[in-house]
Amino acid sequence: MAIAKSSFVLRSRRTLTNDVFELVFDNASNLSSKAGEYVIFDAAPGVKRAYSIAFRNESGGFGFVIKRVPDGAGSPVICDLPIGAEISGMGPMGHFVLRETDVAKCFIGTGTGFAPLYYQLLDSSNRGYRSKMAFVFGVRSDEDVFYEKESAELAARFPDFVSRRYLSRVEKPGFEKGYVTDFLTPENVSQYAEFYLC
Ligand SMILES: Cc1cc2nc3c(=O)[nH]c(=O)nc-3n(C[C@H](O)[C@H](O)[C@H](O)COP(=O)(O)OP(=O)(O)OC[C@H]3O[C@@H](n4cnc5c(N)ncnc54)[C@H](O)[C@@H]3O)c2cc1C
Repeated sequence: MAIAKSSFVLRSRRTLTNDVFELVFDNASNLSSKAGEYVIFDAAPGVKRAYSIAFRNESGGFGFVIKRVPDGAGSPVICDLPIGAEISGMGPMGHFVLRETDVAKCFIGTGTGFAPLYYQLLDSSNRGYRSKMAFVFGVRSDEDVFYEKESAELAARFPDFVSRRYLSRVEKPGFEKGYVTDFLTPENVSQYAEFYLC
């Protein structure tokens, strides 16, 4: 079945770091989405770029977390859209979706790979999953960290939540120095039934 295109209207933009933005779009087509799916935007003629949905808001809006690549053909166009601008998008679509199972899940990502994992964790919480959850997330330095408050709120929604944050280039209290793959010891791995990597 063909996936339809529809119009997305930019409602808000929030600066998260020096090059990462949260963008919220409305969509009049009342589209449903699964946690982990993405939308392909027509950034410019011949320039289609995929962005994972980070969350859905109360009014059905689509939240994205997008890194603005300065010399990119697509991301600067989308990140610099004026509020109220329309952009055509195809989706939501994709196979990287949350399994509807209340088993221990481990979510591992870096950078804007945060987006689909955050949506999957929010969805796990909304579904009332009580199993152990781990969110293992890495960026280069403390300047690249975003969604600290949102991540703390997310953790509080689960009875058994492991949060592990890595900085690859600097040392800072509250973070591990290293890479997300450092988490993958046999002991840690043995505690989870599903892994979501982005
Ligand atoms: C399923 C899917 C989901 C995605 N979800 C997200 C998302 O949620 N948020 C998000 O920001 N991106 C996401 N992306 C990546 C996004 O689709 C684009 O590839 C990205 O925004 C770069 O596009 P661009 O046109 O700006 O750069 P391009 O013109 O394609 O590339 C310009 C230059 O920048 C380099 N480059 C590309 N990406 C990066 C980067 N991240 N950091 C540094 N250099 C880079 C390229 O190698 C190239 O040299 C996703 C991709 C896929 C396939």
